[in-house]
Amino acid sequence: MDTLPTDRPIWTLTLENLEAVAVRFWADRGYTCPTPVQVYRVSDISGAHAWGDMPGNRVWLSDYLLDELEKGNAVTKLDARCWLCMNYIHERGHNAGLPHDVGYKIMHMGPGLAERFGPCLAWAHRNREARTSRNRKRRHHRRFRHGKGGRK
Ligand SMILES: [Zn+2]
Repeated sequence: MDTLPTDRPIWTLTLENLEAVAVRFWADRGYTCPTPVQVYRVSDISGAHAWGDMPGNRVWLSDYLLDELEKGNAVTKLDARCWLCMNYIHERGHNAGLPHDVGYKIMHMGPGLAERFGPCLAWAHRNREARTSRNRKRRHHRRFRHGKGGRK
C-alpha cells in the first residue's frame, strides 16, 4: 500500500509519548523500530484504522482513530487512548519488520485484546488527564485542516 498519502504529517505530544512506549516495547523484545518515525493522518485506509510500512519508518493513523480521542466521556477516551496505543505499537512492529503471524499478541490484534493489553492500559491511565497535549494536538490539527487539501 505505497499509495497512501503523505500530505498530512502529524506530530503531537501524545505521539511523542507513544513513540517512546513503542520503541521501548519492541527494544525489550529485541527489535529496533527504524527512526525517525513519520506519522500521517489519513481519512481512509481501506477499512483499517492504521497502517505501517514493513519494514520502514512510516505510520498512517485514520481520522476515526484520532477523532475518537476527542469524543465521549472519560471512560471512552481512556478506551480510545488504549486503542490508539495498541495500533501504534502494532504498526511500529511492522516498521521493525514483524508480520502478523509472530508470537506477539499485539501483532495478531485478536478479539478482546484491548481489555487486557497491559502496556497500553497503563499508558492510557497515565495519560488520561494530558490536557495540555490534547489542546496542542487540536491546534496542530486545525493547522492541517486548513492546509493543502483541506479535510473531508
Ligand atoms: Zn498489521
